[in-house]
Amino acid sequence: GETIGILGGGQLGRMIAMAAARLGYRCHIYAPEEHSVAAEVSAAHTRADYDYAAGLSAFAADCAVVTYEFENVPVAPLAALGDVPVYPHPRALETAQDRLAEKTFVTELGGTPAPFAPVDSKADLMHAIETIGTPGILKTRRDGYDGKGQWRIMSPTDAEALELPDTALIYEGFVDFAAEFSVIACRGADGDIRYFDSAHNEHENGILALSTVPAPAVITEQVPAARELAAKVAEALDYVGVLTLEFFATANGPVFNEMAPRVHNSGHWTIEGAVTCQFENHVRAICGLPLGSTETVTGGARMRNLIGDEAHDWAQILADPANHLHLYGKAAARPGRKMGHVTWLTFD
Ligand code: ATP
Ligand code: MG
Ligand code: MG
Repeated sequence: GETIGILGGGQLGRMIAMAAARLGYRCHIYAPEEHSVAAEVSAAHTRADYDYAAGLSAFAADCAVVTYEFENVPVAPLAALGDVPVYPHPRALETAQDRLAEKTFVTELGGTPAPFAPVDSKADLMHAIETIGTPGILKTRRDGYDGKGQWRIMSPTDAEALELPDTALIYEGFVDFAAEFSVIACRGADGDIRYFDSAHNEHENGILALSTVPAPAVITEQVPAARELAAKVAEALDYVGVLTLEFFATANGPVFNEMAPRVHNSGHWTIEGAVTCQFENHVRAICGLPLGSTETVTGGARMRNLIGDEAHDWAQILADPANHLHLYGKAAARPGRKMGHVTWLTFD
């Protein structure tokens, strides 16, 4: 079979590689770690840390197509590859990497994010608070994940006291939401677009804890409008692969939070819960194959992340025969680290 190149060595890459193997593809991982959990299930592994840009074209030369499972990689060397197709297109990565670019882009397409303003100084922050108000959240524009690089600001006094990090920031108004959900779409090379059922996503300490399908009515009512925005985003970016948009369900309709140009944690339930999971559909899309059905197979599914020490309770988890346990093979549990997940299907 042909070789798929994956940038990034985490659990998302691992699950893409496992789906790719089922379809007869080999994967080649490009990641800075000496050992990565994606490389463990792949045919080849190249360390990127010594020189990401210089090594990239040699890595890509072995691959029929290059994709990514991690957003925080420099875009320019990827965009310059030329000979080897990169899906989703590097422009999607570039847009999603910067919260300011992402929210501006989505606003232009008719989407509604929380009110936002760029912040590069204390004066910018005080001005943003005057116009947007408090409470709000100050976020780094780049490199944030799992709620890292965020500061909640309850009052102007909080803002005065805050020592700003030396990086580009964005201030967002705090959204009063009923629930959070995601739209996970997959767009094929031929423009065919399909959606998985939207999960109700519950976070703990800024990290996804639980995804549940079907979502309650307060979410499902807002899914059509959210999908419409996802379709516009996908078309504007000539998108190929799985695309995720996160939303808040509010009294005024879906408020866009952020997008991920990749498979997503809130779609892990699709491995058992959908006819064709997000990882296989991503592989099908980037390899130019027809997409599989995204239908949910039973009444629904629930996925719980195993974070930090929780992963050590795996024997207890398996004691319930309905549980599907996924462990990522990560060595040491650190607080907040995603070690695995459990999915159970529901029947009605
Ligand atoms: P991810 O791991 O999903 O990439 P992230 O670090 O990019 O996370 P966000 O998605 O921006 O972070 O925020 C994490 C969580 O914090 C959200 O899912 C939501 O629960 C809460 N949150 C973020 N921004 C807002 C907001 N403007 N109003 C209310 N809650 C918010
Ligand atoms: Mg994010
Ligand atoms: Mg998020």
